[in-house]
Amino acid sequence: MEKQGWRCRKLVLVPCPFQGHINPMLQLGTILHSKGFSITVAHAQFNSPQTSNHPDFIFQSLADGISSKPDIPRDFLAFMSSLNLNCRAPFQEFLSQMIGKQEQQDELPCIIYDALMYFAEAVSSHLKLPSIILQTGSVTTMLTYFAYPRLQEEGYIPPQDSNSTELVPGLHLLRFKDLPSNTFDDLDPTLQLIAILSNIGSSSAIVWNSMDCLEQSSLAQYQQQFRVPNLSIGPMHKIASASSSSLLEEDSSCISWLNKQGHNSVIYVSFGSIASVDAKELTEMAWGLNNSKQPFLWVIRPDPDNGAEPTDWLPDEFKETLGERGYIVKWAPQQEVLAHTAVGGFWSHCGWNSTIESISEGVPMICRPCFGDQKVNTIYISQYTWSIGDMKHVLPLVESFHPYDRVGRAVSHKERLEVDRNLLNCASKQALTSLSTLLGEGFFLLTILRVKL
Ligand code: UDP
Repeated sequence: MEKQGWRCRKLVLVPCPFQGHINPMLQLGTILHSKGFSITVAHAQFNSPQTSNHPDFIFQSLADGISSKPDIPRDFLAFMSSLNLNCRAPFQEFLSQMIGKQEQQDELPCIIYDALMYFAEAVSSHLKLPSIILQTGSVTTMLTYFAYPRLQEEGYIPPQDSNSTELVPGLHLLRFKDLPSNTFDDLDPTLQLIAILSNIGSSSAIVWNSMDCLEQSSLAQYQQQFRVPNLSIGPMHKIASASSSSLLEEDSSCISWLNKQGHNSVIYVSFGSIASVDAKELTEMAWGLNNSKQPFLWVIRPDPDNGAEPTDWLPDEFKETLGERGYIVKWAPQQEVLAHTAVGGFWSHCGWNSTIESISEGVPMICRPCFGDQKVNTIYISQYTWSIGDMKHVLPLVESFHPYDRVGRAVSHKERLEVDRNLLNCASKQALTSLSTLLGEGFFLLTILRVKL
């Protein structure tokens, strides 16, 4: 039967220009493209995606007026604020032109934007286009942020000691030191971020790169606060076919090196795209890995300011003893690495993508969070509360971050976790079907329903 009314076959994606945000957005684009949607990616000039890796997508660059690399996390809010301010006009012009060229009025685009790119919601709302939010972090972290105003009202924050190990009232396992933002002397930036993240404007749904089996209760709590559908369709990298959206060149030579290593023997070390440790800590890590006597694959990004080679930082004595046992790269094809049978552990900063990529492959983690949501993720990973299915396959091998000489002990747990892949995927498939339905058929109805509520 011919469907009446609105159909969204054209999607305009607006990613936030950081690796951990670009990846899930382009994965979502890949998934939806496979369902028959056409994909246009409207992106900032800063950290613009590798267009050649996605030949099926149309890319539209937005003039962002950014002239220098921000120092994240210090400049994060100011950076996001300029980005949102500067991209708004070019995005509106682009969409207006797109609508103008539309032959059939019932095929207007739907905008899917990263929650931090809120200018996209303002423009879609202005042009009366439907929009959907993509949240790239965990639902649990989001709920933690949303607790700040209550904690402030009840006098718990600012705490006397921001590194306090006291449990935060009402936040389950979290201690004050685990809160994602603990610059308590000035709460304004955190409250501004919360205001951005909790303003869904006229958007009609929120999509999460998460899984029901991991965050069911957080999702239920979140759903109580926002009446639009919340769809957790992760782990998206397992649903999307593998095409890299890396901003740095992936060094695939590490896969050949992994091919030569024993089953579950290698510890993979990577702190994602932004987090970094100082030279002293790097040296400690080097000796920890050395003393562990385990093979290791270590990602050390080049210094963004002076382009120094990663190994420049490492002690000469360590480099001399490195031999065949360690392999260092500037950037790895991480999903492929974690899926490799030689990898038995992941020493990670616990960014959300890294966390779900590791869980999806059943790779135990050693957690070294640096800032923000990484601290919340770490607690939920290391306190054994995130389970894959009915507590049958808990994550028992995770080590919290402690002195580096524990690396040796941690990597001796070499057994991979048995992940129930059916469980991981079935809820996501349902949510994905809802999203496709929402976009393809019922979207307009849903928008109307919401207005009526
Ligand atoms: N990543 C990668 N190669 C590397 C290190 C990281 O491809 O050498 C990818 C990783 O697979 C993940 C993303 O970069 O998808 C990092 O996102 P995450 O949320 O873990 O951390 P962030 O970089 O945002 O702190």
